[in-house]
Amino acid sequence: MHYSEEFLATQKAALLESKSELEAELAGIASFDESAGVYVATQPDLESGSPEEFDQSSDETEIGQTNQALIVNASKSLEDVNDALAKMESGEYGVCESSGEFIGEDRLRAYPAARTCEEHSSAS
Ligand SMILES: [Zn+2]
Repeated sequence: MHYSEEFLATQKAALLESKSELEAELAGIASFDESAGVYVATQPDLESGSPEEFDQSSDETEIGQTNQALIVNASKSLEDVNDALAKMESGEYGVCESSGEFIGEDRLRAYPAARTCEEHSSAS
């Protein structure tokens, strides 16, 4: 095993926390469509108006953004988290999906569900 037990335990705790947060977020705005395997909006015109939730990444969090976009983002994140947890079970946690090399611990601390190393990240 490449990473220490302690590091993996910390990462697993972070992943499980993200998982429950994402599931709670999705539960509020969507329901899981078992046949399609995706989350679908339950309240398309829900007002998510909480002005104090303004944050820095304003280009992504415009008021009036549809729930569908939130659902897509949250379910994608949830998928990343679930995959990371599955990899932890199989001993493949932290392996870059592009290069097959181990991802640096600093990056994993920042992004516990990272699929790739910094170099191969397409999300930046
Ligand atoms: Zn890589």
